[in-house]
Amino acid sequence: MRVSEDHPRYRSLVTRERMAEMVAGGVVSVTGLIAHGRGEAFDYLLGERTTPEAEGAEMAAAALLVLSERPIITVNGNAAALAVKELGELARISDAMLEVNLFHRSDERMEKVCAFVEAGTGEQVLGRIQDGILEGIASDRARCCRSGLMAADVVLIPLEDGDRAEAMVRVGKKIISIDLNPLSRTSQAATVAVVDELTRALPNISAWVEKLRKDPKEAGRVLTNFDNRKNLTSVLDRICHHLREPSSD
Ligand code: ATP
Repeated sequence: MRVSEDHPRYRSLVTRERMAEMVAGGVVSVTGLIAHGRGEAFDYLLGERTTPEAEGAEMAAAALLVLSERPIITVNGNAAALAVKELGELARISDAMLEVNLFHRSDERMEKVCAFVEAGTGEQVLGRIQDGILEGIASDRARCCRSGLMAADVVLIPLEDGDRAEAMVRVGKKIISIDLNPLSRTSQAATVAVVDELTRALPNISAWVEKLRKDPKEAGRVLTNFDNRKNLTSVLDRICHHLREPSSD
């Protein structure tokens, strides 16, 4: 379908078309489209822009990455379809590995997503051989890589589901989530919850990593001053305010 650039929802419509193509190509699952729709709804409520709370969280996320010893970025089908280039860029800048983890897993789909991410980032990804298990999760979703997620101290989880996020926290991982829903269990469980759209959040985090890696002391200060709970409360206040007075901010 051709979408006219004059359409007020041009970007959203183009993204939807692309996500639908990615379903046909096997990278995105059909239920991934529903998760995408939930994200769009929250983005609408936030005014479809990076809020001051998201900016603060993006800076704190970068600080956590700079201070980490073994960071990893997990990638699912939606994240790959939406932001493969930006994920590769952040992995390079923060010396993080990329690991593919799928909610709806089959060997065939895993190979498709790994190959897609490798082609889009130019980086090698983990995920084809999953020799680790995240305790406390039923089914295939517990599978991960021992040399990747299991060995990491900091895990960046874009668009993750709550079960896995909580399981990572239980085994001592520090979590950076990117999720437009401030109420999701993922955002609530995270060490740093970035409530922003993925393609806006990733370049901002990368830019902060570039700045903060030159000044680890400042990264420490940024982290000390960041309060995830307070930040999430402030996001919810912003949504309520936006609902009452949509044109005020
Ligand atoms: P949880 O299990 O954490 O309580 P959930 O059931 O909503 O939440 P999923 O549906 O598995 O979890 O995760 C998808 C999440 O990703 C949703 O919360 C949605 O808001 C978010 N999301 C979808 N698209 C984007 C996007 N482009 N940028 C940021 N977040 C997004």
